[in-house]
Amino acid sequence: MHGLRNWDYLLKGTEKPVLIYTDHANLHYYRNPRKIGPHIAGYLPEREQYNMLLEYKPGASNRADGLSRHKDHNNGNNPENEDITVWPEKYFCEHHTSIQATSMVRSHPRDGRPGRDGENIQVMDWDTLESNLDSKVKLVQYQDQKKLKNWTAAFKQITLADGTHYYHGNALVVVADNELRRGVTSLFHDQLTAGHPGISKTLQLILPYYWWPNMKAFITKYIQGCTTCQMNKVNTHPSHPPLSPITPVKNACPFETIAMDFITKLPPSGGHNTILTITDTDCSKASIFLPCKEAIGSEGVAQLYLTHVLPHYGLPKKIISDQDPWFTSHFGKELCHLLDIHQNISTAYHPQTDGTSECTNQSLEQYLCMFCGTQQNNWHTWLPLAQYTKNSWPSV
Ligand SMILES: [Zn+2]
Repeated sequence: MHGLRNWDYLLKGTEKPVLIYTDHANLHYYRNPRKIGPHIAGYLPEREQYNMLLEYKPGASNRADGLSRHKDHNNGNNPENEDITVWPEKYFCEHHTSIQATSMVRSHPRDGRPGRDGENIQVMDWDTLESNLDSKVKLVQYQDQKKLKNWTAAFKQITLADGTHYYHGNALVVVADNELRRGVTSLFHDQLTAGHPGISKTLQLILPYYWWPNMKAFITKYIQGCTTCQMNKVNTHPSHPPLSPITPVKNACPFETIAMDFITKLPPSGGHNTILTITDTDCSKASIFLPCKEAIGSEGVAQLYLTHVLPHYGLPKKIISDQDPWFTSHFGKELCHLLDIHQNISTAYHPQTDGTSECTNQSLEQYLCMFCGTQQNNWHTWLPLAQYTKNSWPSV
């Protein structure tokens, strides 16, 4: 789970399953229902957010980190954690896995959906806000059993996955209570760390957890009525000529190809009036926001890169920018000079880049406008949160 958490912005909620090689044969032990400790129970709700397949590779062919095997946490006795299938069959890719579990017991009623409803398992404080909402949604389900039964007939994916509550796939079904649906939408749209994403992003963020019929229409209406969004609306379909695409490098590492851009002419904030945005274009689409001065120059940018990006991701191989080509190539040279190495970083001048930087800048400007409000002299203090929020959004 530590590994997954580290890369969660890439691995969570993927459409295709993520194949995980593991030499941890003990996982097979959890394929059958059994009593589990609080440590394992705490993983379950989190595990549900990943679409993954486990492939067992014996230690000899898979050098695992010894640290990942440490036995931590107490082995507390929670009577509610009896008979739980921690890793049901759906997580194992059988044809690759050389250990075969001999007796598969699939009779457990909670098989396939353990842990999500926090009823038989004590869910740890992984997200109080969301679990409060979960309990509310479930409570209202009891009051509207008739409609839910009708929906079960109309929508094939709705099941009583845990024997008590209605789920659409893995998402809890929200009954026709507009207040409740607004609550759900608000959690994923207007919270500080949500940052008012657009319709399809908000929908994508909600779908793994909650579902109701015609939810796109509901979310569209909600966002059209969101004052913050309307005040900061950006025309995302300007009548530009089509952009010539930049072909991404296949299997690129994070920040191997970067797009650099500046947001300038900002009101002074902590001695800064410009934001340097660095976006990883070919791997993660993640961005880094650094406050600076407009007159920074290529040496200054190289210095910023050296301090804030290089320690985590190393040297970029390619830089895409709509800045003066001299500036970009000089930045690359300066970076190598600071590191005292001889290397060619290829640079691509793109008057409009491929839209990556523009998208990044747009989200950032929108976010800062919304949260700085009328106080425009402290935007630099919001940059780390803005960066976190932007990188948590699914990249569509
Ligand atoms: Zn909004």
